[in-house]
Amino acid sequence: MDLFEYQGKQFFARYGIPVSPGDLARTPEEAVAVAERLGYPVVVKAQVQVGGRGKAGGIKLAADAAETRAHAASILGMDIKGHRVEVLWIELASDIAAEYYASFTLDRLAKQHLGMLSSRGGVDIEQVAAEDPDAIARILVDPVDGLDEARCRDWVEAAGLDRAAVDGAVDILGKLYRAYVDGDADLVEINPLILTTDGVVRALDAKVSLDANAIFRHPDYKEYDATQVRDARERAAHEKGLQYVGLDGDVGVIANGAGLAMATVDIVHQVGGRPANFLDIGGGASADVMAGALEVITSDPNVRSILINIFGGITKGEEVANGIVAALARVRIEPPIVIRLDGTNADQGRDILRPHLSERLELAPTMIAAAKRAVALASAVAPAPGGSSTGEEDR
Ligand code: GDP
Ligand code: MN
Repeated sequence: MDLFEYQGKQFFARYGIPVSPGDLARTPEEAVAVAERLGYPVVVKAQVQVGGRGKAGGIKLAADAAETRAHAASILGMDIKGHRVEVLWIELASDIAAEYYASFTLDRLAKQHLGMLSSRGGVDIEQVAAEDPDAIARILVDPVDGLDEARCRDWVEAAGLDRAAVDGAVDILGKLYRAYVDGDADLVEINPLILTTDGVVRALDAKVSLDANAIFRHPDYKEYDATQVRDARERAAHEKGLQYVGLDGDVGVIANGAGLAMATVDIVHQVGGRPANFLDIGGGASADVMAGALEVITSDPNVRSILINIFGGITKGEEVANGIVAALARVRIEPPIVIRLDGTNADQGRDILRPHLSERLELAPTMIAAAKRAVALASAVAPAPGGSSTGEEDR
């Protein structure tokens, strides 16, 4: 769950991390009203969940009301790497003496938290890592031990921040670690962490990604879930309660269970195809669920074949088959469908499907055969603008 900068700053503030005062604005007039309250100069900041807003012209300093209005008007509606700016964050501008980088995330290989700190902030950290890897001081923190102040201070020394920034940075990094752990974040990043000309250290930007599985511990995170940026397909799937992740291939994938869905995505790759999505329909495979899954998948114009991979455990084969048949009677599906149905009562399920088979609906005996067939169909089908049906009523 990614937060906007302003939400990330509110999140930081709860843990005592200093940020600049500011407020949201949705129109140039609101921007001026906020600026008048804060005093000048202010920074007008595009709120989109993508980095490099500064370079894209989405961050502008304004010295007075006229400049604030002009910048707000030009940034609102701007497209930054495919994200449209609808909200601005207006904050009191800082006088910057130095820009640093700080973050915590999980190092899955080390099974520990990874802290990264650099005296080269304000720029793309990937670029720093590529050009000058020694400019990033890393620490691994065992979650059981935590991060004590002495170790944190050594880390700051190792990163070579300016002397005047050391105490402030140690304080902020301790708080950032608490925010990361207690807030159940997957990532907390401050870029830039600044030293001001009057010797204060504070967070000038905030990139926070929270673990959506921890919402039960933080009921207030529902508000962040509500502002999540999802593409149209993901939004439709989310509303239907389906676990859907859009990918960029052309073979639509439906499977029951996250493990089988991942294996299906893998096998499509293995036989030379490209999955259009990951979609786990979970335990049941009722007509409702199946119809919803097919609707979501076919709303993606890139999908040229569909692979339904069901292994019945508690879910019985005949229920799945009935669900598919009923769903196909309800939703009109253009791309050809290949079904692999195995597990509990698979024979009964296949018997139910058999009378409905056609060149648009096929059964395959195994998972790999189904994947090969779906991939072959995806590469064979010419994109059909307005796609006319072949007149088969019961496919
Ligand atoms: P990003 O480009 O999306 O990472 O947006 P940031 O919030 O990090 O801002 C980009 C750059 O704008 C920073 O690295 C600063 O150099 C500059 N900037 C942002 N806020 C201020 C400010 O209050 N004062 C000054 N002087 N520069 C700022
Ligand atoms: Mn930044």
